[in-house]
Amino acid sequence: MSENCLFCKIAADQIPSKKVYEDEDFLAFHDINPAAPIHILVIPKKHVVSMQDVSGQDSEWLGKMMALAPSLAAKAGCRPGPEGGFRIVINNGLDGGQEINHLHMHILGGERPWQQRA
Ligand code: 5GP
Ligand code: ZN
Repeated sequence: MSENCLFCKIAADQIPSKKVYEDEDFLAFHDINPAAPIHILVIPKKHVVSMQDVSGQDSEWLGKMMALAPSLAAKAGCRPGPEGGFRIVINNGLDGGQEINHLHMHILGGERPWQQRA
């Protein structure tokens, strides 16, 4: 846990969130300011700042995090198959549009990507 990290505090239940999934390593919750009808954030519980801080040694947990997306999207109401779907976005660093410095994966759905802000 990193001091003064909002998402570490959410992972530690010190700040409330609308959780949709939790296991030993990950937490998923609704974005407080949704950029699409369905907007979920998935975070590793351990503090990692961004994709600029990962290497090959992180591929196992990163793969697990990515692999959560289809079931979380479906559970949240994203339509399945080629006519439906969702976006996965990870912003990294200021130039990458990252505001919260704890790695997080956006799952956006419910409307077509060109209508979305994130
Ligand atoms: P970033 O721009 O860093 O990729 O995305 C940060 C996201 O976190 C934004 O979409 C923003 O709405 C969301 N966010 C910021 N503060 C909170 C919060 O306190 N709770 C929740 N659930 N989401 C937050
Ligand atoms: Zn953190």
